[in-house]
Amino acid sequence: MPPYDPTWNLDSLYPGGSRSPAFRSHLDSCDTALDACGRSLSELPKRPGPEWAKAILDLQEVGARLWDANGFVECLEAQDVSDALAGQLAGRVQKMNARRAMLLTEMESLLLAASEGEWKELLARPDLSAIAFTLNELREVARLKMPPEKERLAEELAVDGYHAWGRMYEKIAGSRRVEFEEDGKKLALSMGQLHNRLENPDRNVRKRAFEKMESAWGEVAELAAIALNSQAGYRLSLYKNRGLESVLAEPLRINRIRRETLEAMWSAVADESPRLVPYMKEKARLLGIERLAWCDLAAPVGSSDRKFTYGEAAEFILEQFGRFSGELRDFARGALEGRWIEAEDRAGKRAGGFCTDFPLKGETRIFMTFGGSFGGVSTLGHELGHAYHSWLVKDLPFWATQYPMTLAETASTFSEMLLSDAALEAASSDRERLALLRIQADDAVTMMMNLRARFLFETSFFDARRTKNLTVEELNAEMRKAEETAYCGALDPNGYHPLFWASKLHFYITGTPFYNFPYVFGYLFSNGIYARAVEEGPAFARKYAKLLRETGRGTCEDIARKHLGVDLAKPEFWKRAADRAVEKADRFVALAEGV
Ligand SMILES: [Zn+2]
Repeated sequence: MPPYDPTWNLDSLYPGGSRSPAFRSHLDSCDTALDACGRSLSELPKRPGPEWAKAILDLQEVGARLWDANGFVECLEAQDVSDALAGQLAGRVQKMNARRAMLLTEMESLLLAASEGEWKELLARPDLSAIAFTLNELREVARLKMPPEKERLAEELAVDGYHAWGRMYEKIAGSRRVEFEEDGKKLALSMGQLHNRLENPDRNVRKRAFEKMESAWGEVAELAAIALNSQAGYRLSLYKNRGLESVLAEPLRINRIRRETLEAMWSAVADESPRLVPYMKEKARLLGIERLAWCDLAAPVGSSDRKFTYGEAAEFILEQFGRFSGELRDFARGALEGRWIEAEDRAGKRAGGFCTDFPLKGETRIFMTFGGSFGGVSTLGHELGHAYHSWLVKDLPFWATQYPMTLAETASTFSEMLLSDAALEAASSDRERLALLRIQADDAVTMMMNLRARFLFETSFFDARRTKNLTVEELNAEMRKAEETAYCGALDPNGYHPLFWASKLHFYITGTPFYNFPYVFGYLFSNGIYARAVEEGPAFARKYAKLLRETGRGTCEDIARKHLGVDLAKPEFWKRAADRAVEKADRFVALAEGV
């Protein structure tokens, strides 16, 4: 077994870490390029021509350069949280990103000046045809907006009048501390730490943590309600002035799907969700309780003690990837050997995992902390899926590589599924099988029930908010109603989480409203693709790679029609996808009954 180095090599990108002179000169070149873009946009002739093409391509190029810069500072900050220089660099990059965003908005409105004929002619140019999809999209965005001077004002006012509500919520949530007794010690836990206690095997710990959570959020619910009502009010006014009737119009456009598709997906989820109820009953039985409460949803069942060294994890992943696609396996081996992965378990690293790509170099870097559990293997496989996706698009123009959130998790989730299925096959006891199936069934519950509850709440909240500010009691009632529907009434009547709207950060992410359905879309889309891979065997690997390659160049519907031959606006595809997800829950029930 080759000894893979668990630390990454950043020097091959820009040597010298946060003191890298090469990286500083890269940032200088980004500044110069932004200046040049600003000048050429201000001097742009009224009618399209070669100057337009140049301005467009220059702005795209600056985007790719800044993407590289973002990735590098993200890596620096993650590998050593005490690196103050990296923090400074991040600040500089952030400012440049904001400048680029402004230039893009400016360009969007300029594109509107072209007549239909001129526009067609422009897009037919050989240097622009590969990014025609993105350019059409930019023009469409501009058309849906108010006149540029109004948009500029709205953007400026949003900093303090809209995004500030999100920042205030983060401050409230981040500064909360709750006293919690554990092993005879009194701890002051953050809300995140308290939330982690919901995964504790001991129900008393989970219950106590949940009660503390509810009362802690209850104390700040009035403030959270002001933040939520105000930011929703801002959005509704903005949409009214842009002439948009539905609050979903913008989220749907950003995610490149149509309303019919979203409806088809949710109708399949609604139809299939009741099939998760027997699983929830069985899980409750194994936990020794009548019915699950919110605090039991993430509780572990069974146990998987299998430990992996980093080398064993790598070999396991390569073997499983290879069973699906030689290309995927070879890519992953290259990433491991080329030291694209930082997985070492050491102090001073940031928590969590990510994969970031460097479009100028055609490389990616993966960050995580590998602890030796199967969860760690799964994370490594997940991030390698992202990296493979980036690798497949690395020779395309930058804008043609930018996929929406709905498609961003396709390759990562798919890779994870390859590994979890293989682990299930290799499991040596029923206890281990139950533990693995539990993780997959809980994923299905999270995606199909928890995320649906968030979507149902957000939809009805926005409806009600059109006429009034909602009180804490009204928000609680809306939330509870959404949870009862989404969980098919299967939770203990006293075990719902009415303050979920206050505790979940996602409702307060002002940059991305409805930060819920894209998760479900991505999860089910991957399940649907996986079902096809199983059905079609090794021949599917080529189709899969082609589909991934096009994720930045079309709507989700177009991509699915072209590469899978399915209509996403009809429930069939989604039903099959949900069926695959729910099947894990069925298997859990069948297995648990014999234990
Ligand atoms: Zn991911």
